[in-house]
Amino acid sequence: VCPLDDRQYALDRRRWRCDCGGPLDLTDPPPFALDRLEGTSLWRYRHSFDLPGEDRPVTMGEGHTPLITIDPDRPQILAKLDFLMPTLSFKDRGAAVLVSLALALGATQLVADSSGNAGAAIAGYAARAGLGCRVFVPAGTPANKVAQLQAHGAVVVPVKDSREDAAAAAVAAVESSDSFYASHVWQPAFFEGIKTFAYEVWEQLGRRAPDDVFLPVGNGTLLLGAAHGFAGLQVAGLIPAVPRLVAVQASACNPIERAWRADAATPAPVGTGTTVAEGIAVRAPVRGRQILQAVRASGGRVVGVSEEAIVSAQAELAARGLYVEPTAASVYAGVLVDPPVDRLVVLPLCGAGLKHG
Ligand SMILES: [Zn+2]
Repeated sequence: VCPLDDRQYALDRRRWRCDCGGPLDLTDPPPFALDRLEGTSLWRYRHSFDLPGEDRPVTMGEGHTPLITIDPDRPQILAKLDFLMPTLSFKDRGAAVLVSLALALGATQLVADSSGNAGAAIAGYAARAGLGCRVFVPAGTPANKVAQLQAHGAVVVPVKDSREDAAAAAVAAVESSDSFYASHVWQPAFFEGIKTFAYEVWEQLGRRAPDDVFLPVGNGTLLLGAAHGFAGLQVAGLIPAVPRLVAVQASACNPIERAWRADAATPAPVGTGTTVAEGIAVRAPVRGRQILQAVRASGGRVVGVSEEAIVSAQAELAARGLYVEPTAASVYAGVLVDPPVDRLVVLPLCGAGLKHG
């Protein structure tokens, strides 16, 4: 269903956006049901996906990542180690569900575009499923990320200029072939996988939600997925309210932060700033309106972090044994810049440090 004009479409291998050009959501996701949990991977929550393919998942045991303290002096701040996934980022949550769906819908070739982590996840799960995969990446994507894509057998197509240009090239490739657009931004099934982040946090905290969740925001995949998951728990009567969602952006590329400050409903595109947190450097997020809505509805806020703060947070995490990429460290930087007082805070560490460079 399109949230802009309510048009509805059947699930189809070729359908990835509304005829109006907007992104689609899934209608009526099944309620979270405590008595239907089984197993320990994210497929523990498969009853809540209600998608073709959930009975024959493409899986590598993803999910069920540790939730730990970072600093013994700050026991109220917990990190969820989502970089401990088969392809080393949280994107495996979405990729496992989306690639399972693609396979069930009869796809044989996938197309993706990504600055790296989503592409790697799609490429890894495509390899697992025996599907072909082409990934369009912006020039300047770290060499380690490109090497990972190629190792999974994906065809890597570098695109000059920005991430938006890579996305446009991917769309052109999808429109001119029979490929399935395995987009972590456009495909609503991807968010069905990401929502398991919220379910796991809730279970790991002894069936309660944290007060605040800090989330990295470029395209907002993790924030929207987490919002979706916590909303599901609230609908099921298992939490009284969705936690405050705090969106963290690199100040160098901050369309959501600017829209937040201006009290705007939709972000305006910003110039391409240079940031070490390339995973959240998105000038014009497709689901920007939804991101702002989710933050506001939760009583959360948007925090901008400087390059110095990101680099410093990355070093501090590494000094505590956690080697993550700058995009992941940006969230911890957001907590340190504006630390919540007397609140239980969860933040994801979403990508491994070896990805960068
Ligand atoms: Zn529409």
